[in-house]
Amino acid sequence: MIENLLSWLAPHRCVGCRAEGSPLCSVCFDNLSEQPWNRCILCYLPCGSGALCRDCQAKGPLDMAWAAGGYGGELKRLVKSLKFERARQAALSLAELLDWLLPELPTTTAVVFVPTANSRRRQRGYDQSELIARALAGRRGWPCRQMLERSDGSRQMGSGRRQRLARAKTLFKTAGPAPSGAPILLVDDVATTGASLGAAAKVLKAAGASQVMAAVCAVSGAGRVKM
Ligand SMILES: [Zn+2]
Ligand SMILES: [Zn+2]
Repeated sequence: MIENLLSWLAPHRCVGCRAEGSPLCSVCFDNLSEQPWNRCILCYLPCGSGALCRDCQAKGPLDMAWAAGGYGGELKRLVKSLKFERARQAALSLAELLDWLLPELPTTTAVVFVPTANSRRRQRGYDQSELIARALAGRRGWPCRQMLERSDGSRQMGSGRRQRLARAKTLFKTAGPAPSGAPILLVDDVATTGASLGAAAKVLKAAGASQVMAAVCAVSGAGRVKM
């Protein structure tokens, strides 16, 4: 509790230039947002623009996707400080980046976060994807809905790609029917194989969602192999 309180009160340093103030200063924000990301979050192949290639768009349940960048440098430090150092202010900076990146979307868009494993959530006392999703929803005036639940206690981190892909299929269940006619924007902090996002989108489509988009803060290429 006290630790949580301190994480809000302690002065933040920019993850890029170490300037005191916020976790990402305006200069480093501009630098980061000027580097467009154009690799597919699912297959990791280069795509024209955005973060979903035409093949994956045609084959899978995701209709559109955006990513702020690769999992490295300032983005990695921001995500890490949010996950491991309890710097919740980092969630606001990440949401600001996504807000800058996303085009205008329908006002009925419902933001749905990809839930973190329950054990991790208990450990940290919060769900980092939920913090980013709620901050983004607040900026855009969209509702944020808790529509996904983990169907088991398994963690995605630190296991092999094949295991992740196999487990992802049964990773989520929906907490209820999807809002009818409203597009859904899935929000996650890091896309490691894209398997979780794909599985989450599939479950949401099965629950009646007409359109499922995804916005992720960083895409990790580690361990990715060509399919
Ligand atoms: Zn800076
Ligand atoms: Zn692709």
